[in-house]
Formats: sequence, C-alpha cells, structure tokens
Amino acid sequence: MQPIQQIFSLLMEPKKVVITTHQKPDADAMGSSLGLYHFLKNLGHDVVVISPTNWASFLNWMPGTKQVIDFEAFNAKANAAIDAADWIFCLDFNTMSRTKRMEEKLLASSTQKILIDHHREPQEAVFAYGISDTGKSSTAEMVYDFILAAGHQDKIDESIAECLYAGVMTDTGSFRFPSTTASVHTMVADLKTRGLQHSRVHEELYDNFLENRFIFIGHVLLNRMEVFYEYNAALIVIPQADLIKYDVRTGDTEGLVNYPLSIKGIRLAAVIIDRGEERKSSFRSKGGFDVNSFARKYFNGGGHFNAAGGVNKEPMDAVVEKFMVALRENEMELNSNQS
Ligand code: 5GP
Ligand code: MN
Repeated sequence: MQPIQQIFSLLMEPKKVVITTHQKPDADAMGSSLGLYHFLKNLGHDVVVISPTNWASFLNWMPGTKQVIDFEAFNAKANAAIDAADWIFCLDFNTMSRTKRMEEKLLASSTQKILIDHHREPQEAVFAYGISDTGKSSTAEMVYDFILAAGHQDKIDESIAECLYAGVMTDTGSFRFPSTTASVHTMVADLKTRGLQHSRVHEELYDNFLENRFIFIGHVLLNRMEVFYEYNAALIVIPQADLIKYDVRTGDTEGLVNYPLSIKGIRLAAVIIDRGEERKSSFRSKGGFDVNSFARKYFNGGGHFNAAGGVNKEPMDAVVEKFMVALRENEMELNSNQS
C-alpha cells in the first residue's frame, strides 16, 4: 500500500470513482463515504457510492443517500459501476470480509483500491494506496484531513460538512471518547464556519426512532441482560425470535451495548444477536481492556481497542459458552485496577 499522498496530483483528472464501505454502514461509514462523494463530485469526477448491504433509515437524511446503490438489492447496477471504475475507495473497514457478499467482486477486480480507515491491522496487500491511522477518531475526520492535505479546503460545502460531522460525532460518542482530540474540535469549528447546522444532525440521528424500538430495549434490559460483577462484565443475548416479535429493523440495535457499559464498575459489555445466518457480537470496554484482541481471539472479529465486533457461525449456546470461557481466561485483566 503506497501512501495516499501519491494520488493528490491525480485528483484533477476526471475519473470514474466507486466509493464503498462496510456492511450495514453506520453514520461514520455512510457519512465519510458521502462526504468524499460530494467532494470528488465538486472536483468533477463521476462518483458512485455502493453499500454492501442496506442501512438504517435514520441515515436517509444525509445528502446523497438516494443515489447510494445497495449491492445486494441492485447487484447488476453495482457490478457495472465496479467494472467501469478507475478507482475504488474503501472507507471505514480494514479487511475485505467486512463487505460481506461484495468481497468476492472487490477481490476479483483489478481496479486500484484506495483505503481510508482507522481500524487495527488493515489488509494492506489489497490496496494500491491508502492511509490507516488508529489514532484518528473516525473515518470522517480522515476524509476531512485528506481534503485539506490535498489542498482543497475551499471545496468543503454544507453537504460535505453535514456528512462528515455525522461521522465524527457518532464515532466519538458525541465528543466523549478519548479519541476526541483538539484536531477534532478544530475540524468541527471549521465545518461550522462552512454552514454546518449541528443540532439538525443530532436530531436526525437520535430523535427519529419509532416507539417499538424503546419497547424492544425495555424488554432486552429487563429480560436479556446478565451482569457478571465478578468479572466487571455484562452480557446481552438476543434470540432471533425477539427481533421478529418487536419488528426490529437495521439500526435499531445500535447503541444497545452502551447500556450495560454505563453500569458502575462494568469494564466490558457485550451484545450477541442471533441474526439467523450468523451470531453477530458487539463489544465495548472502558479503560485498559482491549476488546480488539478479545474479538479477534474468540469471535472472528476485531475493531478498535475499546469498541469491536465479531461474527460466529456456531449456534447461540456455543457462542455464549465461548464468552464465558473468555471471561474466565481474562479474569485478571478484567479485575485489574488499570483505568
Ligand atoms: P459494532 O459493535 O458497532 O458493530 O462495531 C464496533 C467496531 O468493531 C466497529 O469499528 C466495527 O468496524 C468493528 N467490527 C464490528 N464487527 C466486526 C467484525 O465482524 N470484524 C471486524 N474485523 N471488525 C468488526
Ligand atoms: Mn468508523
């Protein structure tokens, strides 16, 4: 993977560009992709954003979402765009497996791929150019840095500002996590001067749920959460029947893992959801417990130091048992006083 700076001089020649991100894109994945989309369009490129799967409806306010192609739903159109592309930007993921059914198509394509990402241990061999920086708060912040480093700060308009703000705000837990550096606040100050209405973004993302989501959360906290104080850990297990009963949609389970993490003393929180074809897990930690390694070792996953996820094909009972074994094997780390 060559440094991304090497493409700066090529940005002025119009190209056919595909931008893609991880499956079930969250606000950082979608916001960074659409921020880059508007920027490259402003430079005169022909740009298409492809999402490997569908996404939560609370992202649909973002300027440009109507033009995003769902790879699963509009496969032929997505494949044609990939075949025609001069460049494929890969945003907010480190390994191609995060693009689910799109992985095969991307790996088979000889088009140059460009990575912009902040997850650990990227699959460097598949990218011609790229930047991977785990010190960055969000991929949205990295897209902002990319635009500035390429010398195009003047191209940042209100649409770009809204998309990038959505990514950085959500990935920093509303500017709470340690990844919220002075540069993050400087970026937001700059976006404000370019017309960003930040309150609108918060309302669009957090005040747009349907009532059933809260009934589902109530049920989950009451019946599906177990706290293991001896390990400073908590686990939520959601069977597929709950998803059907409460009509749970893409995005409705986002943030659920933060509830047990806010219990006094809890340093590791986990949610395991039975999605039928696979068991999807989410891990969050506070302080010195590394959930990236935890997810890699036991749950075929990865992510960041304090936020990671994984997928297992085994039945739910076996995955929960794995979690219990993992707690026992990490008892010392979970009980250490390191903050
Ligand atoms: P979430 O719990 O929100 O799904 O994911 C938390 C973090 O872990 C995200 O940064 C996400 O990219 C990463 N992550 C989630 N699931 C997986 C996975 O199955 N594999 C890998 N490598 N990373 C994941
Ligand atoms: Mn991200």
